[in-house]
Amino acid sequence: MPEGRRRPGRKPGSGPRHDAKDQRRRSDSAPEGRRRDDLPPVEPPPPPAARPSDELGLPTATVLVKAKRARPFFGRHPWVLDTAIERVEGTPADGDVVDLATHEGRFIARGIWNASSRLRVRLYAFESDVPLDAPFWRSRIDAAIALRRTLGLDDRSGAARLINSEGDDLSGLIVDRYGDHLAIQVTSLAMAGRLDAICDALEAAVKPAGILLRGADRGLSKLEGLHLPDRVIRGTAPEGPVFIREGSLSWGVDLTEGQKTGFYLDQRDNRRAAALLARDRRVLDLFCYSGGFAVTCAITGSARNVLAVDGSAKATALARANADFNGAANVTVETADAFARIDSLAAAGEKFGMVILDPPKFARSRGAIEEALRAYHRINRVAVDLLEPGGILVSCSCSGSVSRDDFLEMLSAVAQRSGRQIAMLECRGAAPDHPVSASCLEGEYLKCIIARVA
Ligand code: SAH
Repeated sequence: MPEGRRRPGRKPGSGPRHDAKDQRRRSDSAPEGRRRDDLPPVEPPPPPAARPSDELGLPTATVLVKAKRARPFFGRHPWVLDTAIERVEGTPADGDVVDLATHEGRFIARGIWNASSRLRVRLYAFESDVPLDAPFWRSRIDAAIALRRTLGLDDRSGAARLINSEGDDLSGLIVDRYGDHLAIQVTSLAMAGRLDAICDALEAAVKPAGILLRGADRGLSKLEGLHLPDRVIRGTAPEGPVFIREGSLSWGVDLTEGQKTGFYLDQRDNRRAAALLARDRRVLDLFCYSGGFAVTCAITGSARNVLAVDGSAKATALARANADFNGAANVTVETADAFARIDSLAAAGEKFGMVILDPPKFARSRGAIEEALRAYHRINRVAVDLLEPGGILVSCSCSGSVSRDDFLEMLSAVAQRSGRQIAMLECRGAAPDHPVSASCLEGEYLKCIIARVA
Protein backbone atom coordinates (compact mmCIF):
# COMPACT_ATOMS: atom_id res chain seq x y z
CA MET A 1 0.00 0.00 0.00
CA PRO A 2 1.14 3.52 -0.63
CA GLU A 3 2.56 5.07 2.50
CA GLY A 4 2.80 8.35 4.33
CA ARG A 5 1.39 11.12 2.26
CA ARG A 6 -1.26 13.70 2.81
CA ARG A 7 -4.22 13.33 0.54
CA PRO A 8 -6.91 15.63 -0.65
CA GLY A 9 -10.15 15.28 1.29
CA ARG A 10 -12.34 12.35 0.59
CA LYS A 11 -15.45 12.67 -1.43
CA PRO A 12 -18.64 10.76 -0.95
CA GLY A 13 -18.85 7.25 -2.24
CA SER A 14 -15.65 5.75 -0.91
CA GLY A 15 -14.47 3.77 2.10
CA PRO A 16 -15.49 0.16 2.41
CA ARG A 17 -16.13 -0.08 6.15
CA HIS A 18 -19.25 0.94 7.97
CA ASP A 19 -19.54 2.60 11.34
CA ALA A 20 -19.89 1.02 14.72
CA LYS A 21 -23.53 1.99 15.09
CA ASP A 22 -24.33 0.43 11.77
CA GLN A 23 -22.38 -2.69 12.62
CA ARG A 24 -23.98 -3.10 15.98
CA ARG A 25 -27.44 -2.47 14.64
CA ARG A 26 -26.93 -5.17 12.08
CA SER A 27 -25.13 -7.69 14.22
CA ASP A 28 -27.14 -7.36 17.41
CA SER A 29 -30.66 -6.77 16.24
CA ALA A 30 -30.78 -9.58 13.70
CA PRO A 31 -32.08 -12.97 14.76
CA GLU A 32 -29.35 -15.52 15.42
CA GLY A 33 -28.61 -18.21 12.85
CA ARG A 34 -30.72 -16.89 10.02
CA ARG A 35 -30.68 -19.35 7.14
CA ARG A 36 -31.39 -19.26 3.50
CA ASP A 37 -35.11 -19.98 3.93
CA ASP A 38 -35.52 -16.92 6.12
CA LEU A 39 -33.97 -14.55 3.63
CA PRO A 40 -36.30 -12.05 2.03
CA PRO A 41 -37.73 -13.31 -1.26
CA VAL A 42 -35.77 -12.71 -4.42
CA GLU A 43 -36.74 -9.35 -5.88
CA PRO A 44 -35.71 -7.82 -9.16
CA PRO A 45 -33.16 -5.02 -8.89
CA PRO A 46 -34.66 -1.59 -8.28
CA PRO A 47 -34.85 1.14 -10.92
CA PRO A 48 -33.34 2.37 -13.16
CA ALA A 49 -35.49 0.50 -15.65
CA ALA A 50 -33.62 -0.90 -18.61
CA ARG A 51 -33.52 1.45 -21.54
CA PRO A 52 -32.43 0.49 -25.04
CA SER A 53 -29.13 2.34 -24.58
CA ASP A 54 -28.31 0.11 -21.58
CA GLU A 55 -27.71 -2.94 -23.70
CA LEU A 56 -25.72 -1.09 -26.30
CA GLY A 57 -23.80 0.78 -23.62
CA LEU A 58 -23.80 3.92 -25.74
CA PRO A 59 -24.21 7.48 -24.46
CA THR A 60 -27.57 9.21 -24.35
CA ALA A 61 -26.12 12.61 -23.40
CA THR A 62 -22.91 14.58 -23.09
CA VAL A 63 -21.85 16.13 -19.81
CA LEU A 64 -19.53 19.11 -20.19
CA VAL A 65 -17.20 19.95 -17.34
CA LYS A 66 -16.31 23.47 -16.32
CA ALA A 67 -13.17 25.05 -17.71
CA LYS A 68 -10.14 24.17 -15.54
CA ARG A 69 -12.00 21.25 -13.92
CA ALA A 70 -11.14 18.59 -16.52
CA ARG A 71 -7.65 17.67 -15.40
CA PRO A 72 -8.52 14.96 -12.82
CA PHE A 73 -10.65 13.17 -15.40
CA PHE A 74 -7.87 13.16 -17.98
CA GLY A 75 -5.93 11.58 -15.10
CA ARG A 76 -8.64 8.86 -14.85
CA HIS A 77 -10.26 10.02 -11.63
CA PRO A 78 -13.64 8.28 -11.81
CA TRP A 79 -15.87 10.68 -9.80
CA VAL A 80 -17.47 13.71 -11.43
CA LEU A 81 -19.07 15.86 -8.74
CA ASP A 82 -22.09 18.01 -9.53
CA THR A 83 -19.99 21.13 -8.87
CA ALA A 84 -17.59 20.25 -11.72
CA ILE A 85 -20.33 20.20 -14.33
CA GLU A 86 -21.00 23.19 -16.59
CA ARG A 87 -23.95 21.84 -18.54
CA VAL A 88 -25.55 18.70 -19.91
CA GLU A 89 -26.46 18.26 -23.56
CA GLY A 90 -29.40 15.86 -23.64
CA THR A 91 -31.66 14.58 -20.84
CA PRO A 92 -30.08 11.47 -19.34
CA ALA A 93 -32.12 9.31 -16.95
CA ASP A 94 -30.44 7.95 -13.83
CA GLY A 95 -28.34 4.96 -14.83
CA ASP A 96 -27.84 6.07 -18.44
CA VAL A 97 -24.47 5.99 -20.13
CA VAL A 98 -23.14 9.49 -20.78
CA ASP A 99 -19.98 10.93 -22.27
CA LEU A 100 -17.87 13.42 -20.36
CA ALA A 101 -16.36 16.23 -22.40
CA THR A 102 -14.40 19.43 -21.87
CA HIS A 103 -16.35 22.69 -21.93
CA GLU A 104 -15.32 22.92 -25.58
CA GLY A 105 -16.81 19.50 -26.32
CA ARG A 106 -13.64 17.35 -26.48
CA PHE A 107 -14.23 13.73 -25.34
CA ILE A 108 -12.68 12.80 -21.98
CA ALA A 109 -14.36 9.63 -20.77
CA ARG A 110 -17.51 7.51 -20.69
CA GLY A 111 -19.52 6.94 -17.54
CA ILE A 112 -22.92 6.54 -15.93
CA TRP A 113 -25.25 9.32 -14.82
CA ASN A 114 -27.03 9.62 -11.46
CA ALA A 115 -28.84 12.88 -10.72
CA SER A 116 -29.71 11.64 -7.20
CA SER A 117 -26.06 11.69 -6.16
CA ARG A 118 -23.59 14.54 -5.67
CA LEU A 119 -21.28 12.18 -7.46
CA ARG A 120 -23.16 12.89 -10.66
CA VAL A 121 -21.17 10.73 -13.11
CA ARG A 122 -19.00 7.70 -12.41
CA LEU A 123 -16.47 7.10 -15.15
CA TYR A 124 -15.67 3.62 -16.39
CA ALA A 125 -13.90 4.00 -19.75
CA PHE A 126 -11.48 6.56 -21.09
CA GLU A 127 -11.68 5.66 -24.79
CA SER A 128 -14.42 7.00 -27.04
CA ASP A 129 -14.93 3.76 -28.97
CA VAL A 130 -15.72 1.53 -25.99
CA PRO A 131 -19.41 0.86 -25.26
CA LEU A 132 -20.34 0.12 -21.62
CA ASP A 133 -22.13 -3.08 -22.60
CA ALA A 134 -22.14 -6.62 -21.16
CA PRO A 135 -18.84 -7.67 -22.84
CA PHE A 136 -17.22 -4.54 -21.37
CA TRP A 137 -18.26 -5.42 -17.80
CA ARG A 138 -17.19 -8.98 -18.37
CA SER A 139 -13.71 -7.97 -19.48
CA ARG A 140 -13.31 -5.71 -16.44
CA ILE A 141 -14.43 -8.53 -14.12
CA ASP A 142 -12.16 -11.06 -15.84
CA ALA A 143 -9.18 -8.71 -15.42
CA ALA A 144 -9.91 -8.30 -11.72
CA ILE A 145 -10.15 -12.07 -11.21
CA ALA A 146 -6.92 -12.62 -13.19
CA LEU A 147 -5.14 -10.27 -10.76
CA ARG A 148 -6.24 -12.40 -7.78
CA ARG A 149 -4.85 -15.44 -9.59
CA THR A 150 -1.54 -13.58 -9.94
CA LEU A 151 -1.67 -12.87 -6.20
CA GLY A 152 -2.13 -16.58 -5.49
CA LEU A 153 -5.55 -15.98 -3.98
CA ASP A 154 -7.59 -18.29 -6.17
CA ASP A 155 -7.62 -21.30 -3.82
CA ARG A 156 -11.26 -22.41 -3.59
CA SER A 157 -10.90 -23.34 0.06
CA GLY A 158 -9.95 -19.76 0.95
CA ALA A 159 -11.43 -16.30 0.59
CA ALA A 160 -10.46 -13.23 -1.41
CA ARG A 161 -11.77 -9.88 -2.52
CA LEU A 162 -12.27 -10.35 -6.26
CA ILE A 163 -13.39 -6.82 -7.07
CA ASN A 164 -12.44 -3.71 -5.09
CA SER A 165 -14.45 -0.88 -6.60
CA GLU A 166 -12.24 1.92 -8.00
CA GLY A 167 -9.13 -0.23 -7.42
CA ASP A 168 -10.44 -2.53 -10.16
CA ASP A 169 -11.94 0.24 -12.34
CA LEU A 170 -15.45 -0.76 -11.25
CA SER A 171 -16.56 2.17 -9.11
CA GLY A 172 -19.24 1.15 -6.61
CA LEU A 173 -18.81 -2.64 -6.87
CA ILE A 174 -17.27 -4.95 -4.28
CA VAL A 175 -17.23 -8.72 -4.68
CA ASP A 176 -15.79 -11.09 -2.09
CA ARG A 177 -15.40 -14.83 -2.63
CA TYR A 178 -15.79 -17.12 0.37
CA GLY A 179 -15.10 -20.66 -0.77
CA ASP A 180 -17.76 -21.38 -3.38
CA HIS A 181 -19.95 -18.39 -2.56
CA LEU A 182 -19.79 -14.77 -3.64
CA ALA A 183 -20.96 -11.79 -1.59
CA ILE A 184 -21.59 -8.54 -3.48
CA GLN A 185 -21.81 -5.02 -2.09
CA VAL A 186 -23.13 -2.35 -4.42
CA THR A 187 -22.64 1.30 -3.57
CA SER A 188 -23.41 2.94 -6.91
CA LEU A 189 -26.62 3.15 -8.85
CA ALA A 190 -24.53 2.54 -11.97
CA MET A 191 -23.60 -0.94 -10.77
CA ALA A 192 -27.03 -1.63 -9.23
CA GLY A 193 -28.65 -1.23 -12.63
CA ARG A 194 -26.21 -3.69 -14.20
CA LEU A 195 -26.35 -6.50 -11.67
CA ASP A 196 -27.58 -8.97 -14.28
CA ALA A 197 -24.59 -8.46 -16.55
CA ILE A 198 -22.26 -8.48 -13.53
CA CYS A 199 -23.67 -11.75 -12.19
CA ASP A 200 -23.53 -13.36 -15.65
CA ALA A 201 -19.85 -12.47 -15.87
CA LEU A 202 -19.14 -13.68 -12.33
CA GLU A 203 -20.94 -16.96 -12.95
CA ALA A 204 -18.98 -17.53 -16.17
CA ALA A 205 -15.64 -16.77 -14.50
CA VAL A 206 -16.03 -18.30 -11.04
CA LYS A 207 -18.95 -20.76 -11.25
CA PRO A 208 -20.07 -20.00 -7.69
CA ALA A 209 -22.64 -22.04 -5.77
CA GLY A 210 -24.47 -18.82 -5.02
CA ILE A 211 -24.24 -15.03 -5.19
CA LEU A 212 -25.53 -13.01 -2.24
CA LEU A 213 -26.22 -9.30 -2.21
CA ARG A 214 -25.21 -7.69 1.08
CA GLY A 215 -26.46 -4.35 2.37
CA ALA A 216 -23.06 -2.73 1.97
CA ASP A 217 -22.57 0.54 3.72
CA ARG A 218 -26.13 1.70 4.07
CA GLY A 219 -24.94 5.29 4.40
CA LEU A 220 -23.16 5.13 1.07
CA SER A 221 -26.06 3.44 -0.65
CA LYS A 222 -28.33 6.21 0.58
CA LEU A 223 -26.06 8.85 -0.96
CA GLU A 224 -26.77 7.20 -4.30
CA GLY A 225 -30.53 6.97 -3.75
CA LEU A 226 -30.23 3.19 -3.52
CA HIS A 227 -32.21 0.71 -1.50
CA LEU A 228 -30.89 -2.80 -1.96
CA PRO A 229 -32.17 -5.33 0.57
CA ASP A 230 -29.99 -8.35 1.33
CA ARG A 231 -30.96 -11.25 -0.88
CA VAL A 232 -29.75 -14.27 -2.82
CA ILE A 233 -29.30 -13.14 -6.43
CA ARG A 234 -28.10 -16.37 -8.02
CA GLY A 235 -27.88 -20.00 -6.90
CA THR A 236 -28.25 -20.79 -3.24
CA ALA A 237 -27.09 -19.32 0.06
CA PRO A 238 -24.93 -21.56 2.24
CA GLU A 239 -26.65 -23.58 4.94
CA GLY A 240 -25.09 -22.00 8.03
CA PRO A 241 -21.53 -20.62 8.11
CA VAL A 242 -19.03 -21.03 5.27
CA PHE A 243 -15.65 -22.33 6.40
CA ILE A 244 -12.61 -20.78 4.77
CA ARG A 245 -8.91 -21.53 5.19
CA GLU A 246 -6.16 -18.97 5.79
CA GLY A 247 -2.82 -20.71 6.11
CA SER A 248 -3.22 -23.35 8.80
CA LEU A 249 -6.34 -21.70 10.27
CA SER A 250 -10.01 -22.13 9.46
CA TRP A 251 -12.65 -19.46 9.90
CA GLY A 252 -16.40 -19.84 10.07
CA VAL A 253 -17.92 -16.92 8.17
CA ASP A 254 -21.54 -15.83 8.45
CA LEU A 255 -22.38 -14.66 4.95
CA THR A 256 -25.94 -13.61 5.64
CA GLU A 257 -25.56 -11.72 8.92
CA GLY A 258 -21.84 -11.05 9.42
CA GLN A 259 -20.25 -7.60 9.37
CA LYS A 260 -19.00 -6.32 6.01
CA THR A 261 -19.53 -9.27 3.70
CA GLY A 262 -18.72 -11.63 6.59
CA PHE A 263 -15.01 -11.33 7.37
CA TYR A 264 -12.28 -8.68 7.44
CA LEU A 265 -10.29 -9.87 4.44
CA ASP A 266 -8.38 -6.57 4.36
CA GLN A 267 -6.57 -7.54 7.59
CA ARG A 268 -5.38 -10.96 6.35
CA ASP A 269 -1.68 -10.11 6.08
CA ASN A 270 -1.72 -7.81 9.13
CA ARG A 271 -2.98 -10.67 11.31
CA ARG A 272 0.02 -12.74 10.21
CA ALA A 273 2.45 -9.86 10.72
CA ALA A 274 1.15 -9.33 14.25
CA ALA A 275 1.28 -13.06 15.01
CA LEU A 276 4.96 -13.18 14.05
CA LEU A 277 5.68 -11.00 17.11
CA ALA A 278 3.23 -12.60 19.54
CA ARG A 279 5.25 -15.57 20.77
CA ASP A 280 4.88 -16.15 24.54
CA ARG A 281 3.17 -12.80 24.99
CA ARG A 282 -0.05 -11.98 26.80
CA VAL A 283 -2.16 -10.42 24.03
CA LEU A 284 -5.15 -8.06 24.19
CA ASP A 285 -7.27 -7.94 20.99
CA LEU A 286 -9.64 -5.03 21.38
CA PHE A 287 -12.50 -4.79 18.82
CA CYS A 288 -11.91 -8.45 17.94
CA TYR A 289 -15.03 -9.14 15.77
CA SER A 290 -14.85 -12.84 14.86
CA GLY A 291 -11.42 -13.30 16.47
CA GLY A 292 -9.16 -12.79 13.44
CA PHE A 293 -6.16 -11.32 15.25
CA ALA A 294 -6.82 -13.17 18.52
CA VAL A 295 -6.88 -16.67 17.06
CA THR A 296 -4.00 -16.02 14.63
CA CYS A 297 -1.82 -14.78 17.52
CA ALA A 298 -2.84 -17.72 19.70
CA ILE A 299 -2.24 -20.48 17.15
CA THR A 300 0.12 -19.22 14.42
CA GLY A 301 1.92 -16.85 16.79
CA SER A 302 2.10 -19.13 19.87
CA ALA A 303 0.97 -16.34 22.20
CA ARG A 304 0.88 -17.25 25.91
CA ASN A 305 -2.78 -16.27 26.09
CA VAL A 306 -5.20 -13.83 24.47
CA LEU A 307 -8.02 -11.66 25.78
CA ALA A 308 -10.40 -10.74 22.93
CA VAL A 309 -13.05 -8.04 23.45
CA ASP A 310 -15.89 -6.80 21.24
CA GLY A 311 -19.07 -4.84 21.97
CA SER A 312 -21.28 -7.05 19.81
CA ALA A 313 -22.54 -10.32 21.32
CA LYS A 314 -22.95 -11.72 17.84
CA ALA A 315 -19.29 -10.94 17.09
CA THR A 316 -18.00 -12.51 20.31
CA ALA A 317 -20.06 -15.64 19.65
CA LEU A 318 -18.28 -15.93 16.29
CA ALA A 319 -14.90 -15.28 17.96
CA ARG A 320 -15.56 -17.97 20.57
CA ALA A 321 -16.59 -20.44 17.85
CA ASN A 322 -13.48 -19.64 15.75
CA ALA A 323 -11.19 -20.02 18.77
CA ASP A 324 -12.76 -23.39 19.63
CA PHE A 325 -12.76 -24.56 16.05
CA ASN A 326 -9.01 -23.93 15.76
CA GLY A 327 -8.25 -25.42 19.16
CA ALA A 328 -7.18 -22.11 20.72
CA ALA A 329 -7.96 -22.94 24.35
CA ASN A 330 -5.92 -19.98 25.62
CA VAL A 331 -8.26 -17.35 24.09
CA THR A 332 -10.72 -15.67 26.46
CA VAL A 333 -13.56 -13.80 24.73
CA GLU A 334 -15.54 -11.01 26.41
CA THR A 335 -18.50 -8.94 25.28
CA ALA A 336 -17.87 -5.41 26.53
CA ASP A 337 -17.53 -1.81 25.48
CA ALA A 338 -13.90 -1.47 24.45
CA PHE A 339 -13.45 2.02 25.89
CA ALA A 340 -14.77 1.00 29.30
CA ARG A 341 -12.89 -2.30 29.27
CA ILE A 342 -9.50 -0.82 28.39
CA ASP A 343 -9.94 1.73 31.20
CA SER A 344 -10.83 -1.00 33.70
CA LEU A 345 -7.81 -3.08 32.67
CA ALA A 346 -5.56 -0.05 33.15
CA ALA A 347 -7.16 0.79 36.50
CA ALA A 348 -6.53 -2.79 37.65
CA GLY A 349 -2.84 -2.45 36.70
CA GLU A 350 -3.02 -5.27 34.13
CA LYS A 351 -0.08 -5.60 31.71
CA PHE A 352 0.14 -7.13 28.24
CA GLY A 353 2.96 -8.01 25.87
CA MET A 354 0.88 -7.04 22.82
CA VAL A 355 -2.18 -4.83 22.38
CA ILE A 356 -4.12 -4.86 19.11
CA LEU A 357 -6.52 -2.01 18.38
CA ASP A 358 -8.77 -2.39 15.33
CA PRO A 359 -11.71 -0.07 16.01
CA PRO A 360 -14.57 0.63 13.59
CA LYS A 361 -14.56 3.72 11.41
CA PHE A 362 -14.46 6.69 13.79
CA ALA A 363 -14.68 9.42 11.13
CA ARG A 364 -17.43 9.27 8.57
CA SER A 365 -16.65 12.66 7.08
CA ARG A 366 -13.88 15.25 6.96
CA GLY A 367 -15.69 17.27 9.60
CA ALA A 368 -15.40 14.40 12.06
CA ILE A 369 -11.63 14.01 11.70
CA GLU A 370 -10.66 15.93 14.85
CA GLU A 371 -13.12 13.98 16.97
CA ALA A 372 -11.91 10.71 15.45
CA LEU A 373 -8.28 11.59 16.17
CA ARG A 374 -9.17 12.29 19.78
CA ALA A 375 -10.80 8.85 20.06
CA TYR A 376 -7.74 7.21 18.46
CA HIS A 377 -5.49 9.13 20.83
CA ARG A 378 -7.51 8.04 23.83
CA ILE A 379 -7.43 4.29 23.15
CA ASN A 380 -3.82 4.31 21.94
CA ARG A 381 -2.74 6.26 25.03
CA VAL A 382 -4.33 3.68 27.35
CA ALA A 383 -3.02 0.80 25.21
CA VAL A 384 0.55 2.11 25.68
CA ASP A 385 -0.04 2.21 29.45
CA LEU A 386 -1.14 -1.42 29.32
CA LEU A 387 2.02 -2.53 27.52
CA GLU A 388 4.94 -3.86 29.50
CA PRO A 389 8.36 -2.48 28.47
CA GLY A 390 9.25 -3.92 25.06
CA GLY A 391 5.59 -4.61 24.32
CA ILE A 392 4.10 -4.54 20.82
CA LEU A 393 1.35 -2.15 19.75
CA VAL A 394 -0.70 -3.06 16.68
CA SER A 395 -2.78 0.02 15.96
CA CYS A 396 -5.24 0.18 13.08
CA SER A 397 -7.51 2.79 11.57
CA CYS A 398 -10.04 2.13 8.83
CA SER A 399 -11.25 5.75 8.66
CA GLY A 400 -10.35 6.82 5.13
CA SER A 401 -10.77 10.48 5.99
CA VAL A 402 -8.06 10.21 8.67
CA SER A 403 -4.86 10.36 6.60
CA ARG A 404 -1.85 8.20 7.27
CA ASP A 405 0.09 11.32 8.26
CA ASP A 406 -2.60 12.36 10.74
CA PHE A 407 -2.64 8.89 12.22
CA LEU A 408 1.14 8.89 12.64
CA GLU A 409 1.01 12.35 14.23
CA MET A 410 -1.58 11.01 16.67
CA LEU A 411 0.84 8.21 17.60
CA SER A 412 3.61 10.75 17.94
CA ALA A 413 1.47 12.73 20.40
CA VAL A 414 0.80 9.51 22.34
CA ALA A 415 4.57 8.92 22.58
CA GLN A 416 5.03 12.46 23.85
CA ARG A 417 2.27 12.26 26.45
CA SER A 418 3.19 8.80 27.72
CA GLY A 419 6.94 9.48 27.81
CA ARG A 420 7.50 6.07 26.19
CA GLN A 421 9.54 5.50 23.08
CA ILE A 422 7.35 4.11 20.29
CA ALA A 423 9.47 2.59 17.52
CA MET A 424 7.47 1.86 14.39
CA LEU A 425 8.40 -1.47 12.86
CA GLU A 426 5.85 -1.64 10.06
CA CYS A 427 3.40 0.77 8.46
CA ARG A 428 0.96 -1.50 6.71
CA GLY A 429 -2.24 -1.21 4.72
CA ALA A 430 -4.91 -3.51 3.34
CA ALA A 431 -4.04 -6.88 1.76
CA PRO A 432 -3.19 -6.77 -1.97
CA ASP A 433 -6.56 -8.10 -3.08
CA HIS A 434 -7.77 -4.61 -2.05
CA PRO A 435 -5.92 -2.60 -4.72
CA VAL A 436 -6.08 1.19 -4.65
CA SER A 437 -6.16 3.16 -7.90
CA ALA A 438 -3.39 5.76 -8.08
CA SER A 439 -5.98 7.93 -9.84
CA CYS A 440 -8.37 7.66 -6.89
CA LEU A 441 -6.40 7.74 -3.65
CA GLU A 442 -9.65 8.13 -1.73
CA GLY A 443 -9.78 4.33 -1.98
CA GLU A 444 -6.97 4.02 0.56
CA TYR A 445 -8.40 3.68 4.03
CA LEU A 446 -6.70 1.02 6.18
CA LYS A 447 -3.66 1.82 8.29
CA CYS A 448 -2.00 -0.77 10.50
CA ILE A 449 1.04 0.36 12.45
CA ILE A 450 3.09 -2.24 14.29
CA ALA A 451 5.37 -0.68 16.87
CA ARG A 452 7.57 -1.60 19.82
CA VAL A 453 6.92 0.39 22.95
CA ALA A 454 10.00 0.66 25.15
N1 SAH B 1 -10.16 -6.99 14.12
C1 SAH B 1 -11.33 -7.55 13.48
C2 SAH B 1 -12.21 -6.49 12.85
C3 SAH B 1 -12.74 -5.42 13.80
S1 SAH B 1 -14.01 -4.46 13.12
C4 SAH B 1 -10.89 -8.61 12.47
O1 SAH B 1 -9.72 -8.65 12.08
O2 SAH B 1 -11.74 -9.38 12.05
C5 SAH B 1 -14.46 -3.46 14.47
C6 SAH B 1 -15.21 -4.15 15.57
O3 SAH B 1 -15.43 -3.21 16.62
C7 SAH B 1 -16.59 -4.68 15.24
O4 SAH B 1 -16.60 -6.06 15.47
C8 SAH B 1 -17.56 -3.97 16.19
O5 SAH B 1 -18.57 -4.84 16.70
C9 SAH B 1 -16.64 -3.55 17.29
N2 SAH B 1 -17.04 -2.37 18.08
C10 SAH B 1 -17.56 -1.21 17.64
N3 SAH B 1 -17.72 -0.35 18.66
C11 SAH B 1 -17.28 -0.97 19.77
C12 SAH B 1 -17.16 -0.60 21.16
N4 SAH B 1 -17.51 0.62 21.58
N5 SAH B 1 -16.66 -1.50 22.01
C13 SAH B 1 -16.28 -2.74 21.60
N6 SAH B 1 -16.36 -3.14 20.31
C14 SAH B 1 -16.85 -2.27 19.40
